[in-house]
Amino acid sequence: MSDQATILYWIRRDMRVSDNPALSEAVNSGAYVLPVFIYDDWFSQLGAAPKFRLEKSLVSLQKQYEQLGSYLTIRKGPARAVLRELINETGATSVVWSRDLDPNAIERDTEIKQDLKANCINAKSYRGQVLFEPWKVSTKTGGFYRVYTPFWNSVKDQFVDLTLNSPNSISSPSERPPTLTVEDLSLGAAMSGGSNILGKYIEAGELAAQTKLKNFLDGPVSNYSEDRNIPHLNATSLLSDHLAWGEISPNQCWNSAFPTFLDGVMGAETFLKELVWREFAYHLIYHTPHIVSKSWREEWEAFPWRTDSNHEDVIAWKQGRTGIPFVDAAMREMYVTGRMHNRGRMMVASFLTKHLMTHWRIGLEWFSDCLIDWDPASNAMGWQWSAGSGPDATPYFRVFNPVTQLQKFDPEGIYTKRWIAELSDTPSDTSLSYFNAIPKHWKFDKESVYPPAIMSPEEGRKRALEVYSNRGF
Ligand SMILES: Cc1cc2nc3c(=O)[nH]c(=O)nc-3n(C[C@H](O)[C@H](O)[C@H](O)COP(=O)(O)OP(=O)(O)OC[C@H]3O[C@@H](n4cnc5c(N)ncnc54)[C@H](O)[C@@H]3O)c2cc1C
Repeated sequence: MSDQATILYWIRRDMRVSDNPALSEAVNSGAYVLPVFIYDDWFSQLGAAPKFRLEKSLVSLQKQYEQLGSYLTIRKGPARAVLRELINETGATSVVWSRDLDPNAIERDTEIKQDLKANCINAKSYRGQVLFEPWKVSTKTGGFYRVYTPFWNSVKDQFVDLTLNSPNSISSPSERPPTLTVEDLSLGAAMSGGSNILGKYIEAGELAAQTKLKNFLDGPVSNYSEDRNIPHLNATSLLSDHLAWGEISPNQCWNSAFPTFLDGVMGAETFLKELVWREFAYHLIYHTPHIVSKSWREEWEAFPWRTDSNHEDVIAWKQGRTGIPFVDAAMREMYVTGRMHNRGRMMVASFLTKHLMTHWRIGLEWFSDCLIDWDPASNAMGWQWSAGSGPDATPYFRVFNPVTQLQKFDPEGIYTKRWIAELSDTPSDTSLSYFNAIPKHWKFDKESVYPPAIMSPEEGRKRALEVYSNRGF
């Protein structure tokens, strides 16, 4: 063991080296820095696609550390026990990390911080996941925001910390502690046959994130305000999975787009507003952590949702076989790519919770299994917003009509043909790849007939409105 102090830098959802205050401070202190990833319960409970996405992120991060003269140590087990083990093995005197703001992470980190301090180990957490820490943004009366627009008005002129550069090098102890490999974590195990297909759509890592941000700001941003609603266009930043895994910081996205906004490009303002929707989700998950498990508006807890996740309508929804093209295209897009266009997300969530009267939690769980950009805050907010049970929610009486939505946002059927092979005489490769991605036990294939609609949009809307009215909404 050397005389030089060692700091453990505990990596969680901050898989980057630039604009990473925890890492920068550790490196600037002059101590040895040992970057550690711990596969604890928080990670082992993730769904199939997020775990698979995590694997790609870790592989990329490992390379980055090697390029900086360091290495990644990977361990598995309860974080508190693993950190203690590493402290004993390395003689580390400090542990630093970037703050995560979801309730499970907060509970874990609070206990660990107390435990470390009680054992005379310095423990410090830093910003990293959000632009505006939730406790620093408050209403005039000192409360938290429940509605997006006043939240936006309150943060839009706030100072955003400048983007920090990556360290040039990281000095780590020469004696490497034992480590698992990324493969040892078997993060793709739950993907069954779909991993080869999904893998083609993943570009993991910090460099990919930076490139996407640059490409977006060099082009699509100028028409982003209008084009972001068109599901067949590549008109959005596609940064959500990078932001979810912390491969890029929201500060860097904000600071890079801000000059374009000052140049008067409307699309840049819309982009900043979208980043602030993400902030709002974190504001809410911090102040009202029940958003992940219970209806945010208490009165919705008693709503007679359908809760059978094996109901044939729910199965049809998950499998992209409702016979409603917009819904099915979006569900198949998610199954193949791990992403779904935002318009599609709003559409399928409205269809499940309103037309099919099914609990938003069933949809939230399916998304948690299928999305590579799964994010506890944005997913919970998106679902509750769509269902009407959440903050600043779409009014319960606003039931998206999947047919008129399609006429408006995909009038030429480009998106639906991209994803539904049965609707075309010459099916696209993307639509056919769906049949290679799905599990065999779903028991249908490209030769199967496209099903008739499980419900007419008008009938579903009428039924939903009747139930709302009977329940006194
Ligand atoms: C039911 C439902 C579930 C959702 N689940 C998730 C999720 O698990 N993870 C996730 O990142 N987003 C989620 N969203 C929000 C949104 O659909 C995605 O963030 C967006 O489609 C990502 O594409 P993009 O990166 O190209 O976004 P862009 O349009 O380029 O926006 C830039 C960034 O702003 C943030 N953002 C944009 N829209 C929203 C929004 N409505 N809410 C919160 N943040 C937003 C994202 O971080 C995004 O990367 C959900 C929306 C709904 C309706």
